[in-house]
Amino acid sequence: SYPNGVEAIKGVDLKIFEGDFIALVGPNGSGKSTLAKILCGLLSQRAGQVEIEGKPMGKFHRRDLAKLVSYVFQNPDHQHFNQTVKEEVAFAPKILGISEGEVKERTDESISEMELNGLENEHPLFLSKGERRRLAIASILSLEPKMLIVDEPTTGQDYRTNSKIMALLRNLNKKGFTILLITHALPIVSSCVSRLLVMYMGRIIKDGAPREVLDDDEVVKKARLIVPTAKRIAESLSGYGVPRNALTADELLQYLTLGSSTPS
Ligand code: ADP
Repeated sequence: SYPNGVEAIKGVDLKIFEGDFIALVGPNGSGKSTLAKILCGLLSQRAGQVEIEGKPMGKFHRRDLAKLVSYVFQNPDHQHFNQTVKEEVAFAPKILGISEGEVKERTDESISEMELNGLENEHPLFLSKGERRRLAIASILSLEPKMLIVDEPTTGQDYRTNSKIMALLRNLNKKGFTILLITHALPIVSSCVSRLLVMYMGRIIKDGAPREVLDDDEVVKKARLIVPTAKRIAESLSGYGVPRNALTADELLQYLTLGSSTPS
């Protein structure tokens, strides 16, 4: 609950596993940001308990918490305040007291992971929107948190920029980072993530693989989820034997050309 009495989260019971790649979706005001901020300690809950690796969150020192779960803000311009890309990425580990050599190593690695090489000495405000988004992620990645919460990674950019960010996030997930995305861009993320959490009026109303969640018409309607176009076409062609749970254009094409196999 917020001090003004708004009850943003109601009875959420949730487990996040190491290696999860999750998209948290739902209409505006359904509680996504509030939940995410509770998960990384930016807000504390009025009731209930949050545990990380079996330990109540309140028992962690702030500094240790940042190394476990870190939040990448929606508007990258709220995050940048250093003069160069390099300094921006080095900032968080530096203030956490990590040794100079280690900070340098992490900075180089995070810059390269987010494909910002060559821009190290640029001023963050001279970067393109997509590059600023990647810089925001790099400057949290340098903390090497086990879990990254990324708020709307794909807003306001073109398709190519969004696909690139999703590919980079997928890479991080493959390397072992647990990732939670807060997003409206379901058509962009549904083929990448392994788990979809749907929030509605402060509750999680569905939790499962994207294919399974998007096949639940009631949930899709209630949470006003934007279903990928390929799935909508597949549904309208189900009378011709096309499985209605195709999610991507590639899958749809496969059925149309080969007329076989069920998506897993
Ligand atoms: P979402 O991220 O899904 O859009 P939020 O977590 O931002 O949802 O908001 C959930 C509810 O909490 C909404 O009713 C919103 O108006 C309210 N809320 C969010 N932030 C605050 C705040 N700082 N003070 C009071 N109410 C808030």
